[in-house]
Amino acid sequence: CCTTIGSSVIPTINRLQDILTPVSGELSKISLPQVAVVGSQSSGKSSVLEALVGRDFLPRGCDICTRRPLALMLENRPRKPDDDGKEWAEFRHLPGKRFYDFTKVRREILAETDREAGRNKGVSENQIGLKISSPNVLNMTLIDLPGITKVPVGDQPTDIETRIRKMIMDYIRQENCIILAVSPANSDLATSDALQMARDVDPTGTRTIGVITKLDIMDRGTNGCNFLLGKVVPLRLGYVGVVNRCQEDINKNRSIRDALAYEEQFFCDHPEYNGLSDRCGIPQLAKKLNQILEQHVRIVLPSLKAELNSRLTAVAKELQKYGQVVESKAEQEAILLSILARYCEAFSTMVDGKSQEMSTK
Ligand code: GDP
Ligand code: MG
Repeated sequence: CCTTIGSSVIPTINRLQDILTPVSGELSKISLPQVAVVGSQSSGKSSVLEALVGRDFLPRGCDICTRRPLALMLENRPRKPDDDGKEWAEFRHLPGKRFYDFTKVRREILAETDREAGRNKGVSENQIGLKISSPNVLNMTLIDLPGITKVPVGDQPTDIETRIRKMIMDYIRQENCIILAVSPANSDLATSDALQMARDVDPTGTRTIGVITKLDIMDRGTNGCNFLLGKVVPLRLGYVGVVNRCQEDINKNRSIRDALAYEEQFFCDHPEYNGLSDRCGIPQLAKKLNQILEQHVRIVLPSLKAELNSRLTAVAKELQKYGQVVESKAEQEAILLSILARYCEAFSTMVDGKSQEMSTK
């Protein structure tokens, strides 16, 4: 599998989600936060998302490519014996049509963008919905957003900057949105639109991760260490530096696998980054995201447990009213809820144990 996101929390969170599905409703609190990418046009947002998912399917390029928000819903499909384990994609506007070829997914994103936003660089806040079903992903949503631009081009209205900022704000304002604030290393971090917008909605920095792209094309004689160390713009959750594919790689259809290998080699070849290996590379970014997701689960677990218990009590009371009824629906629910409560208990013990383990490292 080439999916890097969620590689450590997948089994536990997915099991918890699976097990909660039969009684979901109010118990849907376990749903994971959305992750949105924010930054100036061509800073590398789509490239970062693609590398995280481990699939080539997003339009990328040096011009405006992402012209409508794209909600990428990753959906875990539990492995069944008769399932071939293949990944497929389905658009919200084309229900029932499965795409197994991800080049065709990109083509459809482009076509659907044109349908709504025209062919001449126009933008639209109308979201494109794309679901990816796979046994190797976490149930979560990633949002690719148009980049911030200043000067209208093509059919763009004169207030293009305001419009795009509003569009981005609608997503990142939400408290359960994790912000990947993308800034290219070849311009000054103090001028980063991404960090500025992230700070507006998340002033304490509890849900913003800084991502520095293009470390490979910095001015000769400079490097990104001060950015990554938070010496230029401090950020509570810190930064991760990455090297994505350049335009030539895209034109030559270089694979994600090759790109990740190249990135790893880049950081090995540049001794200035040697001491910073915990904040360099896409795998480190995936790891950081995982830790945040795990933290989120840890926070929602107590209320989930409390809710399970109160529902258990209510169902038990109802059950008493019926006297001795074997295999009734209420009884089945009571049994299910008590199993769930125990499962939650075990899960939180495990997560707590793991956090202690991490803090003692
Ligand atoms: P977006 O507009 O922010 O979504 O940016 P894209 O992901 O479409 O990338 C814009 C351009 O920058 C593309 O030509 C990419 O190939 C290039 N690019 C993105 N990240 C990097 C990087 O880390 N290094 C290099 N050399 N080019 C990059
Ligand atoms: Mg883009």
